[in-house]
Amino acid sequence: MKNDKDVENTEAAEGVCPYCGSRNIARIFRGMSTFTEELQRELDEGKVALGGCVFEYDRPILLYHCNDCEEEF
Ligand SMILES: [Zn+2]
Repeated sequence: MKNDKDVENTEAAEGVCPYCGSRNIARIFRGMSTFTEELQRELDEGKVALGGCVFEYDRPILLYHCNDCEEEF
């Protein structure tokens, strides 16, 4: 039996937007994390988006933000 599809599913996890397939995504920091110069630089470069203090307890914590289609996942 071939299980090629299982391998593909496993690899399609991080780094790609599940909505539009873009790799132009940013990690989301939730809450008040330590604000470092490195974090500031990643914000400027669009690699990181701040979730701010707006917690939505009825939804799972989203870890990534797509810079192309604006979806969070
Ligand atoms: Zn997207």
